[in-house]
Amino acid sequence: MPESTPVNRDLFDDVMVPNYAPSKVIPVRGEGSRIWDQQNNEYIDFAGGIAVNCLGHCHPALVNALTVQGNKIWHLSNTMTNEPALRLAKKMCDATFAEKVYFANSGGEANEAALKLARRWALDNHGEEKSHIIAFKQGFHGRTFFTVTVGGQPAYSDGFGPKPGDVFHAEYNNLDSLKALISEKTCAVVMEPLQGEGGIISPTDEFVKGVRALCDENNALLVFDEVQTGVGRLGSLYAYMDLGVTPDILTTAKALGGGFPIGAMITTTDIAKHLKIGTHGSTYGGNPLACAVAEAAFDTVNTAEVLDGIISKSKLFVDALNQINDKYNVFEEIRGKGMLIGAALTEKYKGRAKEILLAAMDEGVMTLIAGANVCRFAPSLVVPDEDIKQGMAAFEKAVAKIAAN
Ligand SMILES: *Cc1c(COP(=O)(O)O)cnc(C)c1O
Repeated sequence: MPESTPVNRDLFDDVMVPNYAPSKVIPVRGEGSRIWDQQNNEYIDFAGGIAVNCLGHCHPALVNALTVQGNKIWHLSNTMTNEPALRLAKKMCDATFAEKVYFANSGGEANEAALKLARRWALDNHGEEKSHIIAFKQGFHGRTFFTVTVGGQPAYSDGFGPKPGDVFHAEYNNLDSLKALISEKTCAVVMEPLQGEGGIISPTDEFVKGVRALCDENNALLVFDEVQTGVGRLGSLYAYMDLGVTPDILTTAKALGGGFPIGAMITTTDIAKHLKIGTHGSTYGGNPLACAVAEAAFDTVNTAEVLDGIISKSKLFVDALNQINDKYNVFEEIRGKGMLIGAALTEKYKGRAKEILLAAMDEGVMTLIAGANVCRFAPSLVVPDEDIKQGMAAFEKAVAKIAAN
């Protein structure tokens, strides 16, 4: 590359596959919930790298784990196991319903493993007929071809040729629609215990418990995709812990690595045994560097100090959004749980969530959207209260601009 080639947003259009439309802002440094761009403009980060940076940027415990492990050993492949992976897996088993862990590198891959395991479990135990997978409309489970097919958004799965078969979609929070699809042929029901990408939709108590009961009646596995909700996001270590329902398989990624790519599928010994030697795998999955960082993130999040703080911080966001709404009347509903909050736009502002996001960026606060009609906040679980106040003041300015025209 010639010395003189400027590294800016234009270069993206020159050299990158055009499947993303990134912001014009190019961040170069972060600390806690603050980010600085190439021009040294400062931003407050309520996007958290899409619910990934659970401890903000450059958290000392994560930087330490990364540098300590970085000076020991980075990668081995699964022909050998390693200490960080074993320690992390043990901690995950101790803290959850699970007895066995499979490491992947992303949420989509963790789900891919869960789906393949469910199919194999059903084949071994019940035969070829039991191959149906039921998921929910508006659900999101990743971008591999199997997971995007299981996801409930045809816009993401259409246009790539024939899809993996025997995948069906029920309506979220509608037990009757699940009842109409589920049968002895169902091998798994896959759900998010709060739909994230689909618009920040919480399940009703009746629904989650009803899904569990229907799975039991039909000998189907219940798979919770906790890629977005897991590792403290909703205020408990995993969302299932607060719902009175235990899944058979759970997937976790995003916040698990606090910013380092890692994913995991966790399950019971009895189910896990169906992924026999050679049935599935990954070159990088369970890589020592990733597991060392994830272990530090897991240890830090799984403390009363961090988890208890989420409730009060969540309330600061919700109160600020309600106050903004009292003035500008742009939101129909403020919803979500813990540090995953959605503000759904009223009819008048429908389709304008991205505009608000861009206006907020101009005011110095990074946010997310969940579809065209929902502003989404997925900040660090330890975002300082002062940053919440300043960030929401900046967000209010953005809303004021949109409301004015
Ligand atoms: C983000 C997400 C995924 C996909 O994770 P990747 O790491 O992008 O593969 C899967 N499921 C849910 C619920 C998610 O939010």
